[in-house]
Order: sequence, then structure tokens, then C-alpha cells
Amino acid sequence: MMYDINKVREDFPILARQIYGKPLVYLDNGATTQKPRQVVEAMVDEYYNVNANVHRGVHFLSQQATDLHEASREAVRRFINARSTDEIVFTRGTTESINLLAFSLGEAMVKEGDEIVVSAMEHHSDIVPWQMMCGRKGAVLRVIPMTDEGELELETLEGMLNERTRIVCCTHVSNVLGTVNPVKQIVKMAHAHDVPVLIDGAQSVPHMPVDVQDLDCDFFAFSGHKVYGPTGVGVLYGKEEWLEKLPPYQGGGEMIKNVTWERTTYNVLPYKFEAGTPDYVATHALAKALEYVAALGMENIYAHEQELTQYALERMRQIEGMRIFGDAAHRDAVVSFLVGDIHHLDMGTLLDRLGIAVRTGHHCAEPLMTRLGISGTVRASFGLYNTREEVDALVAGIEKVSRMF
Ligand code: PLP
Repeated sequence: MMYDINKVREDFPILARQIYGKPLVYLDNGATTQKPRQVVEAMVDEYYNVNANVHRGVHFLSQQATDLHEASREAVRRFINARSTDEIVFTRGTTESINLLAFSLGEAMVKEGDEIVVSAMEHHSDIVPWQMMCGRKGAVLRVIPMTDEGELELETLEGMLNERTRIVCCTHVSNVLGTVNPVKQIVKMAHAHDVPVLIDGAQSVPHMPVDVQDLDCDFFAFSGHKVYGPTGVGVLYGKEEWLEKLPPYQGGGEMIKNVTWERTTYNVLPYKFEAGTPDYVATHALAKALEYVAALGMENIYAHEQELTQYALERMRQIEGMRIFGDAAHRDAVVSFLVGDIHHLDMGTLLDRLGIAVRTGHHCAEPLMTRLGISGTVRASFGLYNTREEVDALVAGIEKVSRMF
């Protein structure tokens, strides 16, 4: 262990809660992570002592709030190693980032008969915005298939790329299977056909170091609340040359330069994509969250969670009737499973009575569920503060529930 997990857990007051008289075992980190004091206190402090709308004020507080907000943009830039803060667009989260991109890219460059490529294991947030845009533009959505182990079939992708392909969209880490996709290789393949790539980083940014220049992706989206930050804020990274080419998504506020009754000219990057008052308290708190995980070290968090996941897989595989979905060579801190013919909802509900929080259902990936031939799974997803004892509690819980059926 490269950080003191007991000390780290003290930063997260919620982890000390009892649920139905049992210590909380929080294994729903894929849905959202808990927040350290440092993040919550930054929000309280800003509301109590700094609060003023950003960018538009000459007064002291507005300047100070603006400085914090823009320093947060720099913190995000540094965290994912973007070249410039002009490439960091603040949004409400991964979903809004992808909706922004699908709309703007659709307006700029998609015509009837064009093709959009997504993968078989995308979250609805990286399917539906593209489907909606395809509907508006008469474009076609194409899907990279996957193997039974949960790995994308890259030979098939190679054959799918052509002069009609407008973008390839792929999740970095599957929120269901835990598969870590070879996104760097996918970027290389797409670039060979001059096709840009969006990576959905919702499930990678909280768990591993991410360097967008090294990945060479054209766009990258993630959510603050999944990386120990607040809700209501996320990021769309885009290479400057791409963002320059795309029209704004929403109108109003900071995205304008001049407005007359006849026409509006738009602000420079990244403000062109940031209409309305941003959640400047959340951006500041997100910077605090990134500072928090960076201080622990993303490599250390990755190593800790890898060890925990391997331990969980080993122990869970010994449970009678256990089916684990996803067996990719490179996988991350998510374990989706079913036991015998116990319904995922029953398993989740009974684990909850033992204080164990897991997610059940289709995990916003219905096409993937159809591919797997199931209606849903139980999903345990780990975070930086989870322990082997919590994995033991999960295993004991699953065994107890299994005995009841
Ligand atoms: N993409 C993936 C892979 C996810 O796991 C999630 C959230 O579960 C999302 C996108 C959507 O994130 P948000 O709801 O924060 O916009």
C-alpha cells in the first residue's frame, strides 16, 4: 500500500456511517464517488467567503471567483496534460460533454449517408446523443463488435473506417465489464483515415493516470462527481484545431462576443462553448478533488485498485454459481456478476440490508446487456478508499444471500 488507507478513509466522513446497523460498505463508485472533506470544505468556503458571478464583474469578489474558476481550468489542464486551457471546456458532466460534441460536430460536418462509429460497450450517454444527431442529419450509426470476453474487435473496426466515417467514439473503461480499451491504438487506426476520436473517460479518469497528448485523442470527456469531485461539473477536452472548427452548442452568456438584432459573434475558446453562468463553485471544488487524488498519486490509486480487483475476482470466482461478466486481459476496478438464477435486483436489495451498496440493472448500457443476453447484473465498483475487508464483506454477503435462495 502506497498510501495510508485508514488515514485516507478519515477524509470521507460518509464512510463512517452505519446502514441498518451495519458499517457502510460503499461499492458503487462507478455511479458516483464519495467526497473528501477537502472538496466539501472548498465549496462551503467559496459560498461563505467568495461567492460572486464570474467573468462579468469589476468588483473584488467577482475577480476572486473568476481567478478561482480559471485556476481550476488550469488544474484540469495539468491533470490530463492538455496543451492549453483553451482546450478545456467546462460542462455539467460526461453526458453534456458528449451532447455538446455530437451537436456541434453534426452541425459542422455531418451529411446524409455519413457514418458515426461507437463501440458495443458504450454507456447510453455515448450512444443516444449520436443516435439523435444521426436522426437529424440522416447519418448512420455503426457499432464496433466485441468478443465474449468483452474486448473490442479491432480487425472489424479497421474494415469499418472509410471516407464517410466522421468520428469514432469509444469508452476508455467499460462501466459494466471493466474492460480497459486499447484507445491509443484505436486513435492511431482512426487517424490513419483522418477520422477524429472521442474517448469517454468517465470510468478512467478516477482510476488511472490519463494523458490526452499521449493518447493523441481529439476529444475526451469526463465527470467531476466520479473523481471525488462535486456533481454538476464535467469536462470536454478538445484539440484546439478541432474546437476552432465547431460551432457553439448553446447560446447566451459567456459564449458571445457581440450581439445585435441581426447577428451574434462568438467568444474565443473555450468560452465559445460555455453558455450561461458556469458552476464556478463546482469547478473550484473539482480542482480540489484533482489535487487530492494527485497528492495520493494516480499510479498508487491504480495499483491499489488493481490489487483489490484481482483479490475480489479470485474470491468471487470461488462462489458457487458465480458468473462474472467481462474477462478482458486489461481490466479495471469494476466487477459485474450474477449468481445462479438470483435476480440482480434481489441480490442488490439483500446486500443493501447488510450495509453493502452495489448497483443493479442495465447500468445505462442496454445494447450491451442485449449482447450478453441478460437483463442486468449486480455491479461492485471500487474506489481509492475500499479495502480487502470490504471485499470480504461483499463475498460473505453474496454467500449469505445465495444460501437464502
Ligand atoms: N460514460 C460512462 C462510461 C459512464 O460510466 C457514465 C456514468 O455512469 C457516463 C458516461 C455518464 O456520466 P454522467 O452521468 O456523469 O454524465
